[in-house]
Amino acid sequence: MKIIDRLRDDRIHISFEVFPPKTDAGVDSVMDTTAKIAGLNPSYISVTYGAGGGTSKNTAKIATYIRNELGVESLAHLTCASSTKAEVHQLIENLKQLGIENILALRGDIPEGMTFPTEDRYRYAYELVAAIRERGDFCIGAACYPEGHVENEHKEDDIRYLKQKVDSGVDFLTTQMFFDNDIHYNFLYRIREAGITIPVLPGIMPITTASQMKRSQKLSGTVFPRRFLALLDRFGDNPEAMKQAGIAYATDQIIDLLANGIKNIHIYSMNKPDVAAKIMENLSEIIKC
Ligand code: FAD
Repeated sequence: MKIIDRLRDDRIHISFEVFPPKTDAGVDSVMDTTAKIAGLNPSYISVTYGAGGGTSKNTAKIATYIRNELGVESLAHLTCASSTKAEVHQLIENLKQLGIENILALRGDIPEGMTFPTEDRYRYAYELVAAIRERGDFCIGAACYPEGHVENEHKEDDIRYLKQKVDSGVDFLTTQMFFDNDIHYNFLYRIREAGITIPVLPGIMPITTASQMKRSQKLSGTVFPRRFLALLDRFGDNPEAMKQAGIAYATDQIIDLLANGIKNIHIYSMNKPDVAAKIMENLSEIIKC
């Protein structure tokens, strides 16, 4: 089933994310984790694509497993910076052969020291979106950045390029993580003004350790509000307390989004079924509304 058909109905949709292992040896363990997350009955599960392209085989394998064996819809991420156009076309063909219907089209981060752009690679995600659109009847998602993409100094340019990407054939967007919902509401206002009307799923990252917070900040450039930093200050040295506080914070963000009329939410569950389960338990009555 195409994810966009689900996102357009009136119900609340919660989706989760898993990442594939770096080596084949870890596949069974990730499948086990994924099965636990699938047991929470999400609207879909997305599977990331490792920077550098090394995990592409396992992304397809796990996305196929989710769909065929676990009976949950899957979304396979695909990046283009680390592969040639010919390789990307082969990967799209492979996903089609496997029966994958949903792809999150991304440029990917540029590995340090890599010469980029080059003639034989797609430079921006909008080009990848167009290539996927040309090659099959896929539902296509793409990324967006409420706080602006780290490489782009001007937020207005970011939105102009986002509009170009959407117009290339994107069905829905998922945001980079953020920790202040007002940033998301402001972003939604600005993109709607710019004529971007497709569904946008806020991406919520439950931060359960101090080191995860530092990694997330480095990766996304996100601003952590004082309210979050206070949790970290008070509970950062106590793993169990920090986990509980991080889950509560993410739950609170989700409840606020739902209360403000947003009905599709993506949770960066990061192969942590216990965290995903706790959030779903916290929302058990709310998501029935
Ligand atoms: P683009 O949309 O191409 O944008 C990249 C930059 O180029 C932006 O600064 C944009 O403003 C600028 N730009 C776009 N078009 C133009 C233009 N025409 N002219 C000039 N500038 C332009 N990474 C992974 O490696 N694997 C994953 O699985 C993965 N999943 C992700 C999921 C989500 C929801 C998000 C938000 C990010 C994910 N990423 C992943 C990270 C992503 O690959 C990086 O953020 C990457 O740097 C940008 O990818 P993009 O698809 O947003 O690129």
